[in-house]
Amino acid sequence: MKMHNFSAGPSILPQEVLKKASDSVLNFNDLNLSLLEISHRSPNYVAVMDKARHLVLELLGLEGKGYSALFLQGGASLEFLMTAYNLLPLNGKAAYLDTGAWSAKAIKEAKMLGNVEIAASSKDKGYNYIPKNYKIPDNTAYFHCTSNNTIHGTQIKSFPEVDALMVCDMSSDIFSRQLDFSKFDLIYAGAQKNMGPAGTTLVVVKESILGKTERTIPSMLDYQVHISKDSMFNTPPVFPVYVSMLTLQWLKDLGGIEAIEKINNTKADLLYNEIDSNQNFSGTAVKEDRSHMNVTFVLTDDSKKEAFDTLCKNAGLSGLKGHRSVGGYRASIYNAMPLESVQTLVSVMQQL
Ligand SMILES: *Cc1c(COP(=O)(O)O)cnc(C)c1O
Repeated sequence: MKMHNFSAGPSILPQEVLKKASDSVLNFNDLNLSLLEISHRSPNYVAVMDKARHLVLELLGLEGKGYSALFLQGGASLEFLMTAYNLLPLNGKAAYLDTGAWSAKAIKEAKMLGNVEIAASSKDKGYNYIPKNYKIPDNTAYFHCTSNNTIHGTQIKSFPEVDALMVCDMSSDIFSRQLDFSKFDLIYAGAQKNMGPAGTTLVVVKESILGKTERTIPSMLDYQVHISKDSMFNTPPVFPVYVSMLTLQWLKDLGGIEAIEKINNTKADLLYNEIDSNQNFSGTAVKEDRSHMNVTFVLTDDSKKEAFDTLCKNAGLSGLKGHRSVGGYRASIYNAMPLESVQTLVSVMQQL
């Protein structure tokens, strides 16, 4: 049976990327060697890393603008700490926007290193909206926000203008929509939502902001160390970086972010229209803040759960269960999700 993969992460990848990735495991670049068994310093692999880093800056429109792209390890969760290590001056202050479970974790890590203020929070309503019209305290070294709240299904549509460095966790919507990425000084994203397999984290950082905290930073946590070694300070996660590179190339061939954004809007509109017009369902995020990547909804009548779950199962719809902390349903409709899969979900919703 054809499956439709709505998993929130690790999540769907383009079929052609999976095919190329699996070929590389047996015979990479016609070397008659596996990608998994060659040196990361061999020219064939160095070319992969260079291409991946280059594609990131190209797709984001950041080439020649003083940014470096790094493929690191430790997930977005380690970036919660690394960003503070590299950007929060001793005795300095950072401001965080608290929009969900991931923001809260980022705040917790940064607090270990210094003074953190919460610019605004939507915790009062179970994180179902994005706070607006908040003030960022004076003398803030950086402002940190989460562009898309994977668990709660909300997304920042308009970013604040801030008089501080702008740091953003874009784990679940990077490369999904056009933004002026040069407004951000540091962007990070775990690969496994919208870019590749689990095991690598993308960091895009403006080089001129680094080296200003007067902290002693352990080598593995120091962005400048990773930049100086072209993201090869230690053995990189060779396979996740390769598959991310293939996915970025797939996106470029498709027409880049501009082209995928149109498809993403079509998919999201289709699904939200169904949620709003079908009396069996109700969306959980405030309408104006709805995510185009993670669509969260509940049944209006819980007694229909078994019937709906069975319909989903029979149609090959997988990964729709909401996050364990919020319940309900969540359809993750990342870049690689075909329109056809969203159409299938909508027709199943109409059968209930
Ligand atoms: C999944 C996710 C994380 C955590 O990523 P890991 O790679 O598991 O550490 C952080 N932030 C956001 C927005 C996420 O969706």
